[in-house]
Amino acid sequence: MAGKNKNRCSFCGRSEEEVALMLTGLHGYICDDCIRQANRILQGSMGEDAGKKQAAKANASDSMGMGDIPKPREIKAYLDQYVIGQDYAKRYLAVSVYNHYKRLSQPINDNGVEIEKSNIIMVGSTGTGKTLLARTIAKMLKVPFTIVDATVFTEAGYVGEDVESILSRLLQVSNYDVAAAERGIVFIDEIDKIARKSDNPSITRDVSGEGVQQGLLKLLEGSIVNVPPKGGRKHPDQDYIHVDTHNILFICGGAFDGIERKIAQRLNTHVVGYDSIQNLQKIDSKDLMQYIKPQDLKSFGLIPEIIGRLPVLTYLNPLDREALRNILTEPKNSLVKQQIKLFAMDGITLTFEDDALDYIVDKAVEYKLGARGLRSIMEAIMIEAQYNAPSEGKKTLTITQQYAQEQVEKQKEKL
Ligand code: ADP
Repeated sequence: MAGKNKNRCSFCGRSEEEVALMLTGLHGYICDDCIRQANRILQGSMGEDAGKKQAAKANASDSMGMGDIPKPREIKAYLDQYVIGQDYAKRYLAVSVYNHYKRLSQPINDNGVEIEKSNIIMVGSTGTGKTLLARTIAKMLKVPFTIVDATVFTEAGYVGEDVESILSRLLQVSNYDVAAAERGIVFIDEIDKIARKSDNPSITRDVSGEGVQQGLLKLLEGSIVNVPPKGGRKHPDQDYIHVDTHNILFICGGAFDGIERKIAQRLNTHVVGYDSIQNLQKIDSKDLMQYIKPQDLKSFGLIPEIIGRLPVLTYLNPLDREALRNILTEPKNSLVKQQIKLFAMDGITLTFEDDALDYIVDKAVEYKLGARGLRSIMEAIMIEAQYNAPSEGKKTLTITQQYAQEQVEKQKEKL
């Protein structure tokens, strides 16, 4: 990759050395490739035949050359700076994202072998880093990224949002650059909340469950979707933006509370014969999540078509004490580093005693909110000091275990 300070195309990110021509605008640059590509897209949208559109699209994906795509190990190393543990999920994500962008840069009609899209599903309890992983990957790749919560969707025609609104948001974050949005990443959180209520297809309507899954299917499998430009519901008089979802990477996350029971049931019912009994003995019953298979998602209530469109299944481990302790101090923007920076801006050197950090971890374990609890506990401990310290003119501040405990007890009702 070229140095950072060079002029780069605002569309594809390539530097002056990598392209034949670079035009300079008021607020950015554009390279000859992107000009050509924009021209083709324009021609396509002005009524050229579908074949030309296809060519324009193929070129759009070319704009991220293979040389620009970080390798899986580089992606993992980047994730390591921000996300503690979860090695298994990181490897899966790194490889899937790498393959995804390989897919985008594959020449069409290359021996007829077409790399298929590999949308991802991550299973893991709340506050274990699912959203953080997705967000960090998007930050690294500098592609449009949006997070949506599956619980807000209902089947078309009912109160709630249509699934198409996912694409409206992606368009918004891409400044309505459709080509960029079409290569973006969407993180759909709480996918488990749209599981149908029982494993059997419902006889009564299941407005927020199966119907929504059917709606999502269309997006996941790749189709041209009419998106209302301002979000909200579809309206017959509105002009739609056509968004092709073939190259959008969908990452889904969910806690799937109780899925361990489904895993255990499956493992037990498969015990037939001596070999299987031996295998069963090898099973680590404390960490059943590692044995998760697509059929467990089906037992939980995802429809098989959705599961088929999320071929990469990975899991996140619950965070133990050691991981929580590391999360406080290790990541590039860890909570402790953030507090130190806040105080440093007032000329105050802030330090935390080890006991105080252990106390924060104890409380987070007690509240069972994963790493999510750490932040609210930290805020509760620091609020008073943040209020007083800027006016007191002190040069140092040390947070002891006793101080932390006093503050938490004072704020208890708010936690
Ligand atoms: P989830 O999506 O799994 O419910 P999040 O990714 O939103 O959880 O995590 C909530 C917060 O907890 C994040 O903002 C982050 O600060 C912290 N966090 C969670 N897991 C980790 C982790 N493995 N490493 C570092 N920070 C984490």
